[in-house]
Amino acid sequence: MRVMRKLKAKRVVIKVGTSTLVYPDGSINLRAIDQLAFVISAMRHRGRDVVLVSSGAIGVGLNYMGLKQRPKAIPEQQAIAAIGQSELISIYKERFAIYEQKIGQVLLTRDIFVYPKSHRNVLNTFDALLAQNVVPIVNENDTTAVDELDHETKFGDNDQLSAVVATNIGADLLIMLSDIDGFYDANPNEDAKAQLLAHIEKVDQQTYDLAGGSGSRFGTGGMVTKLKAAERMIKADGQMILANGEDPSIIFQIIAGEPVGTLFG
Ligand code: ADP
Repeated sequence: MRVMRKLKAKRVVIKVGTSTLVYPDGSINLRAIDQLAFVISAMRHRGRDVVLVSSGAIGVGLNYMGLKQRPKAIPEQQAIAAIGQSELISIYKERFAIYEQKIGQVLLTRDIFVYPKSHRNVLNTFDALLAQNVVPIVNENDTTAVDELDHETKFGDNDQLSAVVATNIGADLLIMLSDIDGFYDANPNEDAKAQLLAHIEKVDQQTYDLAGGSGSRFGTGGMVTKLKAAERMIKADGQMILANGEDPSIIFQIIAGEPVGTLFG
């Protein structure tokens, strides 16, 4: 019997990984982007606050520039991210417009959450966007966020970014879409017998021991960063669901409480 989940999902952050947005051959998955626009617009129309945290700037930038591989030098990567980010946002804008849903781009760095004044400014911006029925689409500001700077500007990965945003804006639920059906008791790419875990109440060392690194060509996070995000949500009394973003309409099932993916918390 399928036991339905009881979820609080008035305010939801959705994070999509590059693997959802870009095919393994580097071309853009327009179908997935269109589905995302459709689902999120429908959620908005039903009165939910939705924030989208989208990776994919570098993947889209590589495709736009006709490159097969990520350049090695950091400034060149930042340039590709800048090119890809504007292309990605214009694709989102076009797709959301079909559903009469407005979007706003929010680019963040880690230090914003450390300095109280900039932190306040960010929260005010989210409040104002949501109050005007606009869907914020968030990414790390790759132009300034590099590791070498003297203050910490980099989240490192959008899994952390999405959890920091979700806890700061008081989201009940973080939906993390990846290229895998959920969290398994072993890395399914390496262990054919790995079993999907439907519910993880708390994230501890034992949980981390089950996680391996990134499996996709463009993905950077892997499972460890997703567990850290889950830990952050649980600490803030929220929940996270990790599910497969191959068909983003899975979000409808998630919101309805169907037992898909892995529920954390
Ligand atoms: P994204 O680009 O969506 O952020 P990543 O490729 O960074 O995704 O991370 C997802 C990958 O993590 C999976 O495809 C899988 O290869 C790997 N992985 C490692 N350990 C596990 C685990 N225990 N359960 C599920 N996936 C795992």
